[in-house]
Amino acid sequence: MDYKLSEQQVAIRDVAEKFTADEITPQAARWDENHEFPRDTIRRAADLGFGAIYLPEAVGGIGLGRLEAALIMEAMAYGCPTTSAYISIHNMAAWMIASFGDDAVIKKFLPKLITMEHFASYCLTEPDSGSDAAGLKTTAIKDGDDYVLNGSKAFISGAGVNEIYVCMVRTGDTGHRGISCLVVEKDTPGVSFGANERKLGWHAQPTAMVNFEDARVPVSNRVGAEGTGFNIAMAGLDGGRLNIAACSLGGAQRCLDESINYVKERKQFGQAIAEFQNTQFQIADMAAALAAARALTHIAALKVTEDAPDKTQSAAMAKLIATDAGSKIANDALQLHGGYGYLMDYPIERFVRDLRVHQILEGTNEVMRMLIGRSLLS
Ligand SMILES: Cc1cc2nc3c(=O)[nH]c(=O)nc-3n(C[C@H](O)[C@H](O)[C@H](O)COP(=O)(O)OP(=O)(O)OC[C@H]3O[C@@H](n4cnc5c(N)ncnc54)[C@H](O)[C@@H]3O)c2cc1C
Repeated sequence: MDYKLSEQQVAIRDVAEKFTADEITPQAARWDENHEFPRDTIRRAADLGFGAIYLPEAVGGIGLGRLEAALIMEAMAYGCPTTSAYISIHNMAAWMIASFGDDAVIKKFLPKLITMEHFASYCLTEPDSGSDAAGLKTTAIKDGDDYVLNGSKAFISGAGVNEIYVCMVRTGDTGHRGISCLVVEKDTPGVSFGANERKLGWHAQPTAMVNFEDARVPVSNRVGAEGTGFNIAMAGLDGGRLNIAACSLGGAQRCLDESINYVKERKQFGQAIAEFQNTQFQIADMAAALAAARALTHIAALKVTEDAPDKTQSAAMAKLIATDAGSKIANDALQLHGGYGYLMDYPIERFVRDLRVHQILEGTNEVMRMLIGRSLLS
């Protein structure tokens, strides 16, 4: 095992860092303040292949591994965690179609997802089933060549703007074996969207409910066999959790770098605050926690790429450790900036708000502990 990235991995990271510096960082504060969804910037990411990072080249993806995906997500989150996470969710949904869909569903939906002419949402959560995702109630009853959908999905990233919704719905009995995965198009009659949620962070992307009222979806839009939807959703989340961990790493690295610059400039009691031992210890703790979280995330990414038996447990550990560390590091950076950290004139408060939700979505960090504990004790 090598602690250094390969030349190819460094080159991939360089491309993502340049894209971030040119296209994301200069605009991210405005997107946040104006709640602006950067559709065009996200589309330009697809020109670099970032709409289909870990999709096989055979279906039009760029065929990279999960470590390379984590490097790209981390680099983009350095500018804007919200935008990076959006691209992660799109990749996760596209990967589910590419990995479990039949030829017809792949041909119908993937080409426009790969170019990001269409954006994809991942629809698992419902108003009454969040952590208990297998308890979802949205029904899909077969009627001729269609399923007829009724129910609601909650907290859906991209709802109302995205063209494609990869939905977990109930086609059978209660429990996870009664769940199937269907691709639903935005303009399907009977599909409607709730109001954009007003949130603490992630302002640069919309979050809303998706409602189904007798929405007819062709049976041919199903991804995988009936009853396999929950397993498909969980397989997607292994990658999603790595990506969200990487988004926390990128945000935390930005907060650390901003803090190092700030404490060398800011003077109190006649000296730079960097001279105080507390400041040095604080910076050291932030850097050490970040390095540990990154190492764990990279190992977990290699395990998911290699389909290792403990890949799900490792991805859950990476998500738990990296997102907790990310939030703590951002908050510590705010403290080191004093009152200025609380102002929108500096980027830190945006990262504090944006990284906080990473501890909640893609399974809360309590759910990560539950998965890890169960796997160790089984
Ligand atoms: C901005 C945002 C974007 C999102 N995007 C998407 C999306 O695109 N697609 C999607 O499907 N979902 C999305 N979500 C939903 C997200 O995945 C859920 O919010 C999350 O899974 C938690 O579900 P919940 O909010 O219902 O909380 P609950 O499940 O009600 O949890 C409340 C609290 O109880 C704890 N808890 C629950 N069960 C247990 C247990 N067994 N043991 C210990 N503690 C427990 C939780 O950890 C949490 O602290 C998004 C959420 C947000 C905020």
